[in-house]
Amino acid sequence: MASPRAYKLFQEACNAVIPAGGMTVSEWSDKKRVLSAEASAEPGQWRTRRVPYARAWMDTVNDPYVHTEVLKTSSQVAKSETINNTCGYFIEFDPCPIMLIQPTIDRMKEYSKKRIAPMIRDTPALAAVVSDEKSRDGDNTTLGKSFVGGHLKMVGANAASGLASDPIRVVLADEVDRYPRDVDGEGDPLSLAIVRTTTFSNRKIVITSTPTIKGASRIETEFEHSHQFKYYVRCPQCDALQTFKWKDDQGQYRLVWEENESGKVTSIHYVCENGCAIEPHQKLRMLDPDNGADWYDKNGDTLSDVLDNRKHSGVIGFEIWAAYSPWLGWNELAERFIKASREAKAGNPETLKTFVNTMLGESWDTKNERPDIEGLESRAEDYEADVPLGALLLTAGVDTQPNRLECSIWGWGLEGECWLIYHEILWGDTSKQQVWSELEELLTEEFKCERTTATGERLVRTIDAACIDAGGHNAEDVKNFTKAHRGNKWLAIFGRATGAKEAITTKPTRMQGGALLWAVGPNIIKDKLFATLKVTDPGPGYVHFPKVYDEDGKEVENTEYFKQLTAEKRSRKQKKFDPKDPFGHSQYLYKKIRERNEALDCMVYAYAAKEHLRPNFPELLRKENLHCVKQSDTVYGDVVPEKKYRPRDYAGKMGGTGGFVSSWSKGRN
Ligand SMILES: [Zn+2]
Repeated sequence: MASPRAYKLFQEACNAVIPAGGMTVSEWSDKKRVLSAEASAEPGQWRTRRVPYARAWMDTVNDPYVHTEVLKTSSQVAKSETINNTCGYFIEFDPCPIMLIQPTIDRMKEYSKKRIAPMIRDTPALAAVVSDEKSRDGDNTTLGKSFVGGHLKMVGANAASGLASDPIRVVLADEVDRYPRDVDGEGDPLSLAIVRTTTFSNRKIVITSTPTIKGASRIETEFEHSHQFKYYVRCPQCDALQTFKWKDDQGQYRLVWEENESGKVTSIHYVCENGCAIEPHQKLRMLDPDNGADWYDKNGDTLSDVLDNRKHSGVIGFEIWAAYSPWLGWNELAERFIKASREAKAGNPETLKTFVNTMLGESWDTKNERPDIEGLESRAEDYEADVPLGALLLTAGVDTQPNRLECSIWGWGLEGECWLIYHEILWGDTSKQQVWSELEELLTEEFKCERTTATGERLVRTIDAACIDAGGHNAEDVKNFTKAHRGNKWLAIFGRATGAKEAITTKPTRMQGGALLWAVGPNIIKDKLFATLKVTDPGPGYVHFPKVYDEDGKEVENTEYFKQLTAEKRSRKQKKFDPKDPFGHSQYLYKKIRERNEALDCMVYAYAAKEHLRPNFPELLRKENLHCVKQSDTVYGDVVPEKKYRPRDYAGKMGGTGGFVSSWSKGRN
């Protein structure tokens, strides 16, 4: 029997960094891996030196003391090929049971067909050893490849039956941010897979993803718990060692470019931390370790130092983003950003989200989606009459509380542009008649328009429809009120937080006693409104707010209104995550972050009332043009004019109504 010391030496020899046969994953890949034409822009023999930073990703797998590797990356940085190489290495060189996971079975099937099968076909070393495996689990949740000494099991994270299996030595978990939280009631799919590896002392777990939502990003959590490395490069001018950054600590973009009107970048350079201008053609040389590039942790230790001296706990993390990509130019990166930020300004943040996730390799902070209060408040403007030119339709949204009714009147125009006309609080016991009479008065009020008729009088508008919340304390009162005024299109509504498919149902439910009740989808509407509140330039999708004055003509601070309007935030539901639709509205709930949110509710209900009318705005405008003269020299005709905001010349501010001021002030006291 060997002494403990001899045994330890023997064990360490077995665990040597360079495995028997003297090949690491990158060496295997450089020697044997062939990139297929259908899956690669550069088909043919794999060359690690084309992606120098990826050598570490592959060879860290060979370190006997690292059991888990985390890759938090953007796309376009060869992450998938690294996984494929690792997979090929274990199939041919170090055969064992391997599990490859994609978010869903469907995606796994596609991945298997488009990436794994061509790799095996075109890499002779793999083609010689691999055969297809018939699925053993009748429900077809796995795909398999067999080889002497092991098998490759390809599964979707959305099927527990595929994940629960025989022992596995190597788990390659791709795109973990798109895995469900819970699979078939059996818990976290990644944990289910990792549990399979516990019988192997030489297990390897590779976890990769582009991040998705901040606070809910799996890869971000895994990366935080790893020994973290970033890729440092040297400035060709001043030699300073640094990472590529999108923005520096002062919020300055480090890529500086000039763009033309169509969003094409005409010149670009990267600003070194010492201010040198680095030209795009210098990037590739900077990535080369021969020019000083290397992976460093936050203590300034290199990866090899940390691995050689075992200054880690077995989990190594790498972070990289598209600025490092040998394939994606900085100009293309900037152009994608220009497009995304233009769309975000127009109220559609989806492309920007995708840019942040897939190009910057960062998670998206949903806080970005919440309009900021100061921004909204500071853009309040003086309307030239109660109803500005563009507002072609008025609706009201009424929130009911035991001691008051809150009512917002909104004007709606072409291409989603809208105007808050008025917000009124009617104080009073809502189980008594008085406050309802006041509401009736308000909802039948005439509002003066900025437009004048052919005879020179101001056009007058009344409220076209109203939605009144019957989901709260006063359901019966609301039903009675709306029943009595059915001809006015005053609708009793209730919010359906989940499962709603439209802003407001087309057919109401008839209640006992004859009242009609419409279901409203508040989350659907809030998605739209929050996007629209992010639009910063007047025009399509822009939300206008009036300045508010007291009786003496002094401007009143209206912060409370804007606080209420932004009183909720979108947050992710814990369950029923749909990886096909990670950003879909069905995945979210709106949570109150402030107690009072009536202004938001009122806007939601007014929006529902507008939707109920299914207005044809171009047609409304056409009709109005028939009997109205055009305002001054501004043409607001069949098309949206470039500039329709005339200089202020109307002193009446909120017209003759004044109620917004007084009642709002009352409401705040
Ligand atoms: Zn420099």
